[in-house]
Amino acid sequence: MADRPYIVGNWKMNGTRAMLSEARAIDRSAQRLMKVEVALAPPFTLIHAVHREVEQIGVGAQDCHSGPDGANTGDISAAMVADSGAKFVILGHSERRQDHGESNALVQSKINAAIEAGLRVILCCGETEETRDSGDAENYVCNQLKESLPSDFNKAEEALTIAYEPIWAIGTGRTPTVDDIESMHKAIRSLLISLYGAEQAAEVRILYGGSVKPENAKELLSAAEVGGALVGGASLTAESFLGIVIAAA
Ligand code: PEP
Repeated sequence: MADRPYIVGNWKMNGTRAMLSEARAIDRSAQRLMKVEVALAPPFTLIHAVHREVEQIGVGAQDCHSGPDGANTGDISAAMVADSGAKFVILGHSERRQDHGESNALVQSKINAAIEAGLRVILCCGETEETRDSGDAENYVCNQLKESLPSDFNKAEEALTIAYEPIWAIGTGRTPTVDDIESMHKAIRSLLISLYGAEQAAEVRILYGGSVKPENAKELLSAAEVGGALVGGASLTAESFLGIVIAAA
């Protein structure tokens, strides 16, 4: 597993060209923070522009279609994402699963397409508050992952990152305890070991996501098995995102 923490900003449906200055500022500072791997996933419309502006940080997409081309109005294929300059794609985000009805099977086929197109993948998983309260969160997340992981792990091993994002922590300001995060990340690691063996499983970084901010980043990133963070709201300004990057350094 790459040993540098991986901090990824997900801009979601935010950003016009006016926001390129934030990407530039993040990139300039990331050049001085070599201990951390930094990346941004702007909306599709900004990928190419951000890619042209930055030198140090990775640029990725927030989704792609599972098919290669064809009559899919409004969709973007994995090859198109790669052609726009993106090097990775976030797949299975809870907002896609909930708002667009994406099933584990669909997420898996998107991952297969992304890997085929040469993209790295951040596969998101996470439970609802109801599932957390029922005490079944680890079981639920491990099943979600089993059904969403790439069909051929050998092709994906170096391309795969997992992001554990409890849905009830996304954009709410609430976070799990460090103990709960550690326990979930260990359960995910054990699942990967049981499926692929210890050596291959060790290649996969597991990020935490959900209300990460400069003020709580150090504590959340200190949890065992946490290899970095997927950041939504706090990635929208260079100031707050860099606060998290600095906490990870
Ligand atoms: C996300 O949606 O991936 C996320 C982690 O959002 P936020 O940081 O705003 O909770």
